Amino acid sequence: MVIDPRTIITVDVEEWFHGHNYLDLVPADKWDGLESRVRQGMELCLDLLDRHQVQATFFVLGWTAERHPEVVRDILAAGHEVACHSYSHPVVFEMSEDDFREDCLRARDALGKAGAAGVVGYRAPSFSITPVVHHYLKILQECGFTFDCSIFPVRHPRYGQPNSPREPFLLGKEANSLVVVPMPTWRVLGQNIPYSGGGYLRILPWQAFKILRVLAARQGIPCIVYLHPWELDSFKPRVGQSKATSLRSQGGQSSMPLKLDRILKQGDFETLGQYVGRLRKAGTLPIRAV
Ligand SMILES: [Zn+2]
Repeated sequence: MVIDPRTIITVDVEEWFHGHNYLDLVPADKWDGLESRVRQGMELCLDLLDRHQVQATFFVLGWTAERHPEVVRDILAAGHEVACHSYSHPVVFEMSEDDFREDCLRARDALGKAGAAGVVGYRAPSFSITPVVHHYLKILQECGFTFDCSIFPVRHPRYGQPNSPREPFLLGKEANSLVVVPMPTWRVLGQNIPYSGGGYLRILPWQAFKILRVLAARQGIPCIVYLHPWELDSFKPRVGQSKATSLRSQGGQSSMPLKLDRILKQGDFETLGQYVGRLRKAGTLPIRAV
């Protein structure tokens, strides 16, 4: 990529029980009976960004926007960008095209009612736009989105497109085609190494994160950090988990506030929408068919 890579902070705004590690433990029809913690996590997150005067992109769940419209209003009032994280956190590869379209439109509608009309960015729950549903990206375009950040070019038991390009691309020839921004990786020995968010960021030692970030930037890849409000919250769910699940969903959680503070202390930042704007302006995005 010809433009210089900056750091982009992204936050998936959802409750602790929306993560897929909890899916079998707390089915959707029980969500309304569980303790909501999104406001507490978001307060910590917005305070942290405010302290460093950094603008971020928040992918908000429609389900959450309906129940906590004040969270959407707080994000907007602080000057951040609101984008969409689906309505009810389904994995895309388990949905029909029609169900996916319906979920996208329902989510956009919920965000609009909460005060964020016409959102243009999308991130699928659990990066679940996998090769079998790659063609669903065209549905995002139909629904009014102009950029996507759902593809993770790694091998993972639940998600990933290991053979996807690592750099952003346009989903068609038209100037207003969807811009697809894959999640960042460092490529070495034919493998793509993730490092920039969620469990990877929580569990990686700080020095390892710093090195991977520099190495990926040398390959032209911006550092797109991703986190969830529950990763900043000291609340411990009292829902039984196996040790492996507990490590994936909470391992290294206590290190997150300090790591984020260090990340926010240095470098140039921009929102995902601003990055996409720079990419379109540069006019050098490769075009890939759906
Ligand atoms: Zn999510």
